[in-house]
Amino acid sequence: MELIDGKALARVIREEVRQGVEKLQSEHDIVPGLAVILVGNDPASHAYVKMKAKACKEVGFYSIVHEMPETISQDEIVATIEMMNANPRIDGILVQLPLPPHIDTTRILEVIDPAKDVDGFHPYNVGRLATDLDGFAPCTPLGVMRMFEEYGIDVQGKDVCVVGASNIVGKPMAALLLNANATVTVTHIYTRDLAAHTSRADIVIVGVGVPGLIKADMIKEGAVVIDIGINRLDDGRIVGDVDFDAVAPKCNYITPVPGGVGPMTIAMLLSNTLKAARNRAERK
Ligand code: NAD
Repeated sequence: MELIDGKALARVIREEVRQGVEKLQSEHDIVPGLAVILVGNDPASHAYVKMKAKACKEVGFYSIVHEMPETISQDEIVATIEMMNANPRIDGILVQLPLPPHIDTTRILEVIDPAKDVDGFHPYNVGRLATDLDGFAPCTPLGVMRMFEEYGIDVQGKDVCVVGASNIVGKPMAALLLNANATVTVTHIYTRDLAAHTSRADIVIVGVGVPGLIKADMIKEGAVVIDIGINRLDDGRIVGDVDFDAVAPKCNYITPVPGGVGPMTIAMLLSNTLKAARNRAERK
């Protein structure tokens, strides 16, 4: 069994991005810029945004955070995004989710200029991903694909079971895998016999939010298991969706939580923002 070290790989990607920023600056006089919009007081969202801002600083990005109160109107968020769309120093715009219930999230995501949509949530980029065209793909599944590359795990022709079918994790994960010629099964809360699907897969990728959902008897010997879940237990521990201690001995490769997919997400956000800035350089 080999552990996939997302923390170490994320460090490598961040260093690559830092060097990319230096090059872009010296050759084109462009500094990549990321704008983050944070609405409300959700502690997890605040923690994520803080980590993103710190990561931006480390690689040499220009970054700004627009903090807005829980009670802000939809029109005011739209106006801020439109301002960022027009700001020539901003290459990437990210709206931290979830938004408060009175805000129409779909409408907000559709206001972002697709060329600055570094989270890859705009329907334009979702469509480009579905048709295997260049664009922005969501950071978490993109990070998983990068893990496969780095560890020499070839997905072509493999049976891959994706557990969880959300717009930000499961669905784009399935699209990326399909584009890489894997045979993909997507499962979700209404799937009748989850174990029947996971136990015949060469690769199982789980992003659900249920601690211990994936047990040893649901995984075949020699499988690759990627755990995207992040769950905080009552005792404060952070765990994934996989019963790690029981499942790990059966696997060829497995990701830990924490230290697996989590750090890759921010690294890929930096990578997507650098890509957007390079596109700006090409347009100049
Ligand atoms: P979500 O609630 O939007 O979607 C959950 C999905 O899991 C749904 O498709 C649902 O049908 C499915 N599901 C729920 N219970 C199930 C069950 N018992 N069996 C099978 N499928 C089931 O959640 P999300 O935003 O996609 O996040 C999923 C998990 O991934 C969470 O733990 C979240 O914290 C984590 N996450 C991690 C990262 C990261 O950077 N590593 C990024 C995003 C989300």
